[in-house]
Amino acid sequence: MKKNIAEIIDVSNEIYDKGLVSGKSGNISARFGNVVAITPTLKSLSNLCEEDIVLVDMDGNVLTKGKPSSEVNMHLEIYKKRSDVNAIVHTHSPYATGFAFSNKKLKRLEGFGPIVTPYLQSIGYEKPGSDELAKNASEGLGREDVLILKNHGVICVSDCLKEAMLLAVFVEETAKTQFITLMLNSVEDND
Ligand SMILES: [Zn+2]
Repeated sequence: MKKNIAEIIDVSNEIYDKGLVSGKSGNISARFGNVVAITPTLKSLSNLCEEDIVLVDMDGNVLTKGKPSSEVNMHLEIYKKRSDVNAIVHTHSPYATGFAFSNKKLKRLEGFGPIVTPYLQSIGYEKPGSDELAKNASEGLGREDVLILKNHGVICVSDCLKEAMLLAVFVEETAKTQFITLMLNSVEDND
């Protein structure tokens, strides 16, 4: 477990350093059997220490000191519905979240698994931390590995933390590429 908690801290630092989360936003969790380790509420994902990571059971009972992320129920609902998912990374990464605030859909670009659907799945807005968001996100994710939360952010899931993080990085990069394309297409040619 100690090694796993160290991995959550590493991934937290990495996504913070890459600018996928800022301030005290974003949260990460990993499942180990019937226990979920999750980042705490009201703390920046930069510079977390071992004691900051909160352990909860599948019913949301807190097993250690500290207070889990306000999105803990969203994480738990996803784990309950997806036995193949063991790690969740939730960010408000700026380009992907920009799309989530706009009426533009994010295309699923090549580079991370087969393209089954042309666009990344998304759900309508629900208040962060609410039971409605936990329910709609877990249902809306379906069998997908990425979910766009309208006017809010992004969820990436995988069987391991490193993969979920790489997916979050990839989604942000593809959003950036699509943003640049939209901008270039919106300016007149000067030749
Ligand atoms: Zn959020």
